[in-house]
Amino acid sequence: MASGTSAAARCAARADHRGVSRIDPVSATAYIAAMALRDILILPDKRLRQVSDPVKKIDAGVRKLVVDMFETMYDAPGIGLAAIQIGTPKRVITMDLAKKEEPRNPQVFINPEIVWGSQEKAIYEEGCLSIPEYFDDVERPVQVRVKYLDLEGKPQEVEANGLLATCLQHEIDHVNGILFIDHLSKLKRERVLKKFTKAAKRAAAV
Ligand SMILES: [Zn+2]
Repeated sequence: MASGTSAAARCAARADHRGVSRIDPVSATAYIAAMALRDILILPDKRLRQVSDPVKKIDAGVRKLVVDMFETMYDAPGIGLAAIQIGTPKRVITMDLAKKEEPRNPQVFINPEIVWGSQEKAIYEEGCLSIPEYFDDVERPVQVRVKYLDLEGKPQEVEANGLLATCLQHEIDHVNGILFIDHLSKLKRERVLKKFTKAAKRAAAV
């Protein structure tokens, strides 16, 4: 077994929700008028299984997408979101791992790619905005190195551990059409899928 940690890394959901706070001053001030809440796709929506396309050029459309993603993520509330979760199949991730007493710390990862992962693994309890109110333990490398582009299109690299490493892996899975339940046993995954498929059918019948 891997070394575990009891910290609950809810990669998409946490209990607190700060009302008014600082948001990324660069993107938010320029696009604040245009930002919009978007619907989050829920399991078993097939679009969640789509492999997202790389961003070729960081244009106004991509910047608007990022603003919408932050708006949607903070509202949910969640700490990480991939663009496909709001139905846009682009390799874009937003994240904010700041604790509730800390100022917001919006982070954007464009075309993120894991270039190295540690042998050592850790277990975090994960959740997902696309699989609401379901949490389970997932084992992943405790440390990863990720290459990505920032909002200015500059290549960046981060060596992440702890919660950041877990969330990056969770969100990078999303851009590849993978969900955290894919890391669970087949039995558990099928149980979750069945529950959400039933719920979707019930909702459609109303
Ligand atoms: Zn997720």
